[in-house]
Amino acid sequence: MSHKVLVTGGAGYIGSHTVVELLKANFEVIVVDNLCNSSRVALTRVEGIAGGLVRFYECDIRNSNQLLKVFRENKIESVIHFAGLKAVGESVTDPISYYENNVAGTVQLLKVMRQCDVRTLVFSSSATVYGDPASVPVCEGFPRSATNPYGRSKLIVEDILEDLCNSEAGWRVARLRYFNPVGAHASGEIGEDPRGIPNNLLPYIAQVAIGRREYLSVFGGDYPTIDGTGVRDFIHVVDLAKGHLAALNYLGVNEGLLTANLGTGSGVSVLQMVAAFERACGKSISYKVVDRRPGDVAQCWADPSYAKTVLAWEAQCSLDEMCADAWRWQSKNPNGFVI
Ligand code: NAD
Ligand code: UDP
Repeated sequence: MSHKVLVTGGAGYIGSHTVVELLKANFEVIVVDNLCNSSRVALTRVEGIAGGLVRFYECDIRNSNQLLKVFRENKIESVIHFAGLKAVGESVTDPISYYENNVAGTVQLLKVMRQCDVRTLVFSSSATVYGDPASVPVCEGFPRSATNPYGRSKLIVEDILEDLCNSEAGWRVARLRYFNPVGAHASGEIGEDPRGIPNNLLPYIAQVAIGRREYLSVFGGDYPTIDGTGVRDFIHVVDLAKGHLAALNYLGVNEGLLTANLGTGSGVSVLQMVAAFERACGKSISYKVVDRRPGDVAQCWADPSYAKTVLAWEAQCSLDEMCADAWRWQSKNPNGFVI
């Protein structure tokens, strides 16, 4: 009997790549997504890549009646919870939507899980919970803080999950703190498809390369870093996806709460990323150094050693692979999933 896993937000960027890995590993996959930031086409492509079927419900996690129906129609054993909003700037102008989707939505999900006696959950947390870290690399025990409502929504859910695990035996919860997911599946069939102007570095660079944007604005050239630009821990989205399977394996044999960084352990600057992308696409990327973006930290990268110890997982893909795969996705799908 194969294990049945519910993936919330499974049509999105990280979710779709994780569903591919789950299907390849013979999980039965049920996806719940309201498609507010994704396309149904992504799941059709996922099925093509993995050669398996996904049971899809167009459903909002805030709607507990719909969620309950999904749980009642499927003998779900565990949940990977990606659904939520993720744009930092938008969270500042519209905090209610962020607390409603990310916090209240998660509470609805937890209530339904408990009601249906499902107590295994992998949650998408973020390196943003470290705020502006006092030093790098960042370890799981570092102090947490938030500088915007998006980050605060992640902090609050992390705390809710800890309270839940302390309240009752039987919960098996992983809080995975992602660093900067980039790249795409090697087939070029699925990838990151931001709506409107990309907030994140790599999709912006890719859109400059394909001619959709004129130049990249490099936010700050005077940070105390290797070349003055911001430094991040970019991780291939397929490596990140595999981390979720490792977490499910871990939770299969361990009760309680796990908190782990998913990163590579290496810092890459904005200009180093531009150079890597130029190598991948064979074009030069125009850029202008502009003012710092408010709220950005100078540098942040993971100490990933805890995940290696407890999950037997570590990132494998190089920076050049991340860029080559992002470029394959972008050049095969210049307008994303719009077909
Ligand atoms: P994404 O926007 O591509 O995927 C999120 C999915 O959730 C989308 O398909 C969206 O339609 C769906 N969704 C949103 N609200 C919903 C709701 N109320 N009900 C049902 N579905 C809903 O984002 P992603 O990059 O794949 O991120 C997945 C998760 O990982 C998010 O929780 C995000 O905060 C977290 N995360 C992302 C990053 C990153 O840089 N991409 C970094 C750290 C953490
Ligand atoms: N960045 C940039 N121009 C952009 C987008 C991002 O210079 O158009 C920089 C940003 O200042 C940061 C890095 O790229 O130093 C990564 O930014 P991103 O938004 O992708 O991730 P996050 O800031 O959430 O780590």
